[in-house]
Parts: sequence; structure tokens; C-alpha cells
Amino acid sequence: MTTTRTSAKLPSWQQALKLAVRSNQRLRELLQLPSSPVASPSAQASTQAAETSATADFPVFAPLEYIERMKIGDAADPLLRQILAAADEAVPAENSAGTSDLAAGLMDPVGDMASLRTAGLLQKYPRRVLVIASGACAIHCRYCFRRHFPYETAPKGLSGWQSWLDEIRSDETIDEVILSGGDPLSVADTTLAPFIHALNRIEHVKRIRLHTRFPVVIPQRVCPPLLDWVSSSRAKMYIVLHVNHANEIDDHVRTAIAQLKSAGAVLLNQAVLLRGVNDSLDALHALCLSLVDEQVLPYYLHQLDPVRGAMHFEVADVQARELIEQLRALLPGYAVPQLVREIQGESSKTPL
Ligand SMILES: *Cc1c(COP(=O)(O)O)cnc(C)c1O
Ligand code: SF4
Repeated sequence: MTTTRTSAKLPSWQQALKLAVRSNQRLRELLQLPSSPVASPSAQASTQAAETSATADFPVFAPLEYIERMKIGDAADPLLRQILAAADEAVPAENSAGTSDLAAGLMDPVGDMASLRTAGLLQKYPRRVLVIASGACAIHCRYCFRRHFPYETAPKGLSGWQSWLDEIRSDETIDEVILSGGDPLSVADTTLAPFIHALNRIEHVKRIRLHTRFPVVIPQRVCPPLLDWVSSSRAKMYIVLHVNHANEIDDHVRTAIAQLKSAGAVLLNQAVLLRGVNDSLDALHALCLSLVDEQVLPYYLHQLDPVRGAMHFEVADVQARELIEQLRALLPGYAVPQLVREIQGESSKTPL
């Protein structure tokens, strides 16, 4: 956007969440786009109705920090496309009850509910468990595979999380705990710090992993209290960022990444291959280079999970494989992410 704020003027991360944009209309105003993507008045009415129904259960949500990295007047901006609710998300009513119609997308596309060991704690793969630390996020990504997850069923707060600690303590095969969500960094450091310390007291937990979009979306989330618990962890810290496009990385993000690295975390990135966002060789090449330039290793490039409301982002497997092959010819091996799909019941993410 037109002005870039200096670090001194950045609001706190909590304030940034309060100031976030919560409607398509406000997004279009800020980016100086026409109030509707279509011209004719009758098409406008139906498009608006579809957009409204798309946001009923998954509202638009994007902080100003992220919007500032978009190009004014560009309706096809790759960052905007990730957050603007599209009329394409609306699924015909006759499909909304069942879960059998793959073309329309599923409510639980990766079998999360079948993998619950205890409320909010999932295990799909040996030796690592994943906890749903929060249902809240720094941003709402329209392609999110957990956009229909029943977050209200996961326990909250340190007292609620005792059940996770008990479960992890009782199973010595668990050597890695993944904090996910939603976004685990939505939780206050006053809760996260004692939880991390409690995990550290369980000897067989060797690694703690965070899956988070916060350091990219609201970089000021990387603050002294967070850096404190990251740097003091005995279990080695791995932080998996989620960047889909090179334009998401600005100077504030670079600083946040450098601070996390100084605190001793290893940084990886997972991206989702998204039609209209990063489904070109140029976009993926620029993304991988921007990441390795900050010493963030591209870990996974996910094929879209077939979640209801996001199928318009899907890229065909043949095209995905071709893109990865082309990337391989341009980049050092460590800069090429593994192209994977999550298949329910498999013992790992499945390479394509
Ligand atoms: C993806 C996922 C993991 C992590 O898998 P890695 O291949 O180790 O990155 C762990 N648990 C669950 C439930 C997952 O969905
Ligand atoms: S940040 Fe992650 S969990 Fe949250 S909406 Fe985006 S993809 Fe989904």
C-alpha cells in the first residue's frame, strides 16, 4: 500500500488483531477496487449473496500489516486472493449435508476427527502428536483445510491442556509435540510459556514444533516474552511458517525470522499450491528463493486438501508435478519443497 509504518509505530500484536479488516467491502475500499467483481446489477446481487453465504461460517479476517503488502487496484493480487471471500466458495445446498461429494469438497478433508487421541490432541503418524492449541488465527485463509473444524471441542488454557500433558507423559514413544490450530501463537505467552516448560519436563519429548502463520502475518507477534520461551526450551524448537507467495515477506517479517533464528529455532516453511496465487514457475521460484535467502527451508508444498468451499483453488496433480520438476532445474536441492498430499489413513504425508 502507500505508506509503510516503521517498527516503532507498529501496534501490539493484540491491537493488530483488533484492527484487522473483517469484510470484503472494507478490503475492496482499502485496495481501491470496485465494490463488486462483476459489472451487471443482477449478477452483482447474486455474487454478493454468494459472498455473504461464504462468510457466514468463516468470516473475512485480515490484519492491516498483511494488507499493506498488496498492490493497490490489483484485483488479482496473490495475497488478496488468499483472503477475499469468493462467490465460488458457496456450495449448492443439496451438497451441504453429505460428505460424499468430492467435487464439492469435504467438511473434514484429512480425517482429523478419526485421529483424535483425546479432545484437541491428534495422532496420525508415529512418534509425533499434534495439539489444537487455538481455534483463532492471525488471518483467515479461504483455502484452510480446518475451516470447518469444531474448535469448540478442544480444551482451552493451561488447566484444559493438563489432559494433553498427561497423555504425552504416559506414552514414551512420543518424542515430538506439534502445536497447531488454528494458530498456536494466538494464545498468550503467559499460557504458552508454562505449557512449553511443562513439556520440557517430560524427558521423552525431544522436539517441539510450531505450525504458525503469525510471524509472517503479524510479525510483531515475535516479541520478547515469546523469544524467551523459545530460547529457553530444552526440547529443540522447530517453527514451520506458512508463506505462499514471495510478496508476503517484507522487512518486518525478515526481522521476525532473524529473531526466531537467534533464539535457536530451526525455521521451515509449508506452502499450499493455490490456483491464481502461486501456480506458476515464476511465483514458486521467487517464493523458494525469498525463503532460503532468510535461511528458511522450503519443507512442504501441499496439494490442496479437498475442503468444502475451497475447490476453486485446486491445481491438477500433473501441473503440480511439472512445476516441481521445473523448480528442481532452477534451484539447489535444499530449496525445493516436497510436493505432498495428505491422504487419510496413510502413515505420512504422501509425496506426489
Ligand atoms: C501433517 C501432520 C503432522 C506432521 O507431519 P510431518 O510429515 O512430520 O510434517 C503431524 N500430525 C498430524 C495430525 C498432521 O496432520
Ligand atoms: S492460518 Fe492456518 S489454520 Fe488459520 S486459516 Fe490460515 S491455513 Fe487455516
